[in-house]
Amino acid sequence: MAIREIREEGDPILRKKSREIEVIDDRILQLLDDMYDTLKASKDGVGLAAPQVGVLKRAIVVDLSEEGGEGPLKLINPKIVKAKGEQVCREGCLSVPGLLGDVTRPAEVVVEALNEKGEHIKLKAKEILAVVLCHEIDHLDGVLFVDKATEFYDAEE
Ligand code: ZN
Repeated sequence: MAIREIREEGDPILRKKSREIEVIDDRILQLLDDMYDTLKASKDGVGLAAPQVGVLKRAIVVDLSEEGGEGPLKLINPKIVKAKGEQVCREGCLSVPGLLGDVTRPAEVVVEALNEKGEHIKLKAKEILAVVLCHEIDHLDGVLFVDKATEFYDAEE
């Protein structure tokens, strides 16, 4: 188990585009495990993208199991292949502590990715899972929720 340091807004790595993962080797599996441990060690995180721990590779972890949803999901090279409808959700981000914002996202998405075994998977998501997947995949392109939010709020402690 290894917890990695979460990079915060202002760190230029969060603004860079991550590279596709071509080979799923032990380093990538370790990265995914560490990302999961880092996510679980954070108080209210439900998703984490590799650039948030300083690695510019297209990998995300999502865990909504404590909210009664899906997870843990460890996705490699995730890509939104279909998006439908709209929903507005109040989002936060482990890289932007203390701030929440309302962001308009698709109501439903279909995401294609590889799992840890390198198998192609297709995920249909709606509600909060769709929001988290969009948020994390944005991180892989250097986009933060604050770029898209229309209203901001202080996060209550
Ligand atoms: Zn985030």
